Amino acid sequence: MSPHHYPHLVHCWKALARRAGLRLLPLAEADGFPLFYIETPALAERNGLYLSAGIHGDEPAGTEALLVWAEKNAARLRTLPLLIFPCLNPWGLTHNTRTDSAGIDLNRNFHRRHPVVTAIRRIVGKRRFAASVNLHEDYDAEGLYLYEVTRLNGCGEKLIAAARRFLPHDPRPRIEGRAARNGLIRRHVTPKFFAKFGVPEAIWLYFEHTAHAFTSETPSEFALERRVAAHVAVINAVVREKL
Ligand SMILES: [Zn+2]
Repeated sequence: MSPHHYPHLVHCWKALARRAGLRLLPLAEADGFPLFYIETPALAERNGLYLSAGIHGDEPAGTEALLVWAEKNAARLRTLPLLIFPCLNPWGLTHNTRTDSAGIDLNRNFHRRHPVVTAIRRIVGKRRFAASVNLHEDYDAEGLYLYEVTRLNGCGEKLIAAARRFLPHDPRPRIEGRAARNGLIRRHVTPKFFAKFGVPEAIWLYFEHTAHAFTSETPSEFALERRVAAHVAVINAVVREKL
């Protein structure tokens, strides 16, 4: 089945949720597609991990990897404190497109009133997370790279090392215009910059809900299996480091 087939993705998540003793809950409806999320019973106000994928529809390794990771961890999923958004842009996934049907890049609009953003904010409420992980892909990437936005000691090197079995790190010294070291872009961010640029999901999470926001980026030109395995390794490493 194509990784762009949203009904199949939802079907797999429903089966997984049943197996794990969890429920796929309705989040919102966007562009005619129902969106879902999972909240585990172990999730409290200040301990959890925020996981999301598929905000850009042309980055299918993210949605696949989140499902594969959850399936591999089905037996203990209930015991982990998690808020999971399996696919935030089903219209984009279906059409292999970055934006939603109106041409809006959701990942630049977390400061605005977009129905999906508003729904996520409602579910998140006032929670603080131990960390967040957003899964993305990049056509220009030459390996895995990772954005780490943190106020404290970082652990991004460990996450990249965990994924190295499956994908090399992106060797470029500058990625997307920013200094990178062995695939790690450690960013210091200010609200002023993003007021102009538009607020991405990770930056909203960092400003309001977590001290550790990770964005994992896999290279679209590499084989899907390797990209999926690399994202899965990154999530596993974050669980080890932060939960
Ligand atoms: Zn992306």
